[in-house]
Amino acid sequence: MTSVTEQQILEALQGVNDPERGNNVVDLGMITGMQIKDGHVAFAIQVDPERGPHMEPLRKEAESTVHGLPGVISVTAVLTAERPQEGGPAGQVEMENAMLPEVASIVAVASGKGGVGKSTTAVNLAIALRDKGLKVGVLDADIYGPSMPRMLGITGDPTSADGRRMDPMENHGIKCMSMGFLVEEETPIIWRGPMVMGALEQFMRDVDWGPLDVLVVDMPPGTGDVQLTMAQRVPLTGAVIVSTPQDIALADARKGLNMFRKVDVAVLGLVENMSYFACPHCGERTEIFSHGGAKDEADLLGMPFLGEVPLDVQIRETSDGGNPIVDSDPDNAHSKAYREIADKVWANVEQQLAKKAAQAPKIVLQ
Ligand code: ADP
Repeated sequence: MTSVTEQQILEALQGVNDPERGNNVVDLGMITGMQIKDGHVAFAIQVDPERGPHMEPLRKEAESTVHGLPGVISVTAVLTAERPQEGGPAGQVEMENAMLPEVASIVAVASGKGGVGKSTTAVNLAIALRDKGLKVGVLDADIYGPSMPRMLGITGDPTSADGRRMDPMENHGIKCMSMGFLVEEETPIIWRGPMVMGALEQFMRDVDWGPLDVLVVDMPPGTGDVQLTMAQRVPLTGAVIVSTPQDIALADARKGLNMFRKVDVAVLGLVENMSYFACPHCGERTEIFSHGGAKDEADLLGMPFLGEVPLDVQIRETSDGGNPIVDSDPDNAHSKAYREIADKVWANVEQQLAKKAAQAPKIVLQ
């Protein structure tokens, strides 16, 4: 099968009109970041931030138009609402105010590599923070494997009550937006960094989160360019790094720490996941990967150690089943471990917020 070319896609998209601007999306210069790989196509449609929520029919039309071309296997079109470069060192502060004025703190949950239980930790941490009486949101920015809809048991598509901003989905008392709501689960991820950034900024700017004490961001795993830019562009209060005890994973965790240090984001601490195996039959504790490495590593690197969570079938079944253990079995010892981690995280967040407040210029109203 011959593969489709960018030229063919653009020609097809010339048949898709932006009704409000009376021209097609190609001639209006709205198509950016085109990626084509083995019949899989991805591109972004740039729109004004104010128009974002109205544009879903246009996005769908563009997607199905390209899907109709011979040689196309899958299509991912995302709406991006990028602004012209504002630049300058004040950029982040401006963004913070403009984007999430009602969100008091933002905590990234990160890992040096995939599959270490970052999302499982993020969801249980979010629920444990909720149990502290905090208003919590989860932003699933893990573009490689958005798992929050599944872990929070959320299905369907987000809607917009005011026709302007998207409303987050909600379950377990946690508000949630996920890349998973915008792309089909089997869509291959061949987005470029800027497209991801556009979608991410849209999540922060065009979603009606309402007042939140903390927004937990499930980061994409790894320490590459995408992660680095994300850490820079989201006004993070701090980051939690999740690692398994194996040495290699720990070396990855170190990379994570360095990445956040590079962009001046406080590391709130390290969680050791799959720390040991607790046999559900005899209760014996087996240290599969020489246990305790994360604590030693955290001490060595001068970051707080937040706690350890064992490899446990109930943790896996509950989080993969949309009813995480902290909610479904709050008296369980592992739920207690998550709550202790949440206590430490929140204490460190409060410390960071106090530090920031002390550094902020005092404005005296006369
Ligand atoms: P990541 O976000 O790092 O890719 P996930 O949180 O998606 O990792 O976890 C990968 C898989 O491992 C999931 O099926 C999850 O349920 C399981 N898992 C994570 N942590 C644990 C744990 N402590 N015990 C048992 N299974 C776990």
